[in-house]
Amino acid sequence: MIGGQTCTRACRFCSVAHDRKPAPPDPAEPEGLAQAIAEMRIAYAVITVVNRDDMDDEGAAHYRACLDAVHRTAPAVGLEFLGSDMAGNEPALAAMLDGAPLKVFAHNVETVERLTHNVRDRRASFRRSLRILEASRELRPDLMTKSSIMVGLGETDQDLTAAMQSLRGVGVELLTLGQYLAPSPNHYPVAAFVTPERFEAWAAEATAMGFLAVAAGPMVRSSFRAGTLYDEAVRRRDAGIL
Ligand code: SF4
Repeated sequence: MIGGQTCTRACRFCSVAHDRKPAPPDPAEPEGLAQAIAEMRIAYAVITVVNRDDMDDEGAAHYRACLDAVHRTAPAVGLEFLGSDMAGNEPALAAMLDGAPLKVFAHNVETVERLTHNVRDRRASFRRSLRILEASRELRPDLMTKSSIMVGLGETDQDLTAAMQSLRGVGVELLTLGQYLAPSPNHYPVAAFVTPERFEAWAAEATAMGFLAVAAGPMVRSSFRAGTLYDEAVRRRDAGIL
C-alpha cells in the first residue's frame, strides 16, 4: 500500500487509519517500494493506495512514480494497480495511466449500490466508482479492468446481480467476491456468513455474464491469487471467450 499509512477517507469496514490532512507522501517511497518488490522475487504485484483527497492530483503523480520505479527495477514483475476513485478527477487518472507499465487497473466498488452510502465513506459513490472503471477502459483499453465486492454486509441476491451487471456494463473483466469480516466491534457489522455454495452460484452467474475470470469464496480478498486470475483472464480472452 502506497501513499502513506493514513487515508483521507473513513470507510466503515476498513481498519486503515484516517486523517483529512495526512503527511505528504514520502518522496523515497517509489525507490523503497521498487527495492522491496525486487527483493521479494515475485512475478506479480498488486500495488494499492490510500485515498489522497488532500492533494490536487489525488496522489496520481506519486502513484505513477511508484509504478515507474518498480518497473525500472524489476521489469519482469507484472503490475496490478488497485486505485482509489481519484475523487472523480479524470485528468489526474489520465495522467497516471498514460503509458503506465501495468497489466491490470483495479478499483473496488466494495459493496452493492444500495449499501454504498452506509458502508463506504460518504465521499464515495457506486456510480463514481463505475465511472472510474469505465474511464480507465477508455484511456487504456489494453489493460484488464478489475473490481471486488465484499458480501455478508446485508446485500440481497438481486443487489449483487445488479452490481455485477453494472460492472460488466462498463467493461470490467475480472471480479472477486469475498466474505466481509469486521476488523473490530466498532466497524460495520457482519450481517451474514455466506456459504461456499452461494459463492459458487454467484461465480457461475458472473461467468455467464461475461467476466473473464472470477475468484469467489469466503477467504477471497481483492488481491487473491491476482497473478493467476490475470493469467486465466488472458487465456480466456485470447480464446475468444469474451
Ligand atoms: S478509501 Fe480505501 S483505504 Fe481509505 S478508508 Fe476506504 S477502504 Fe480504507
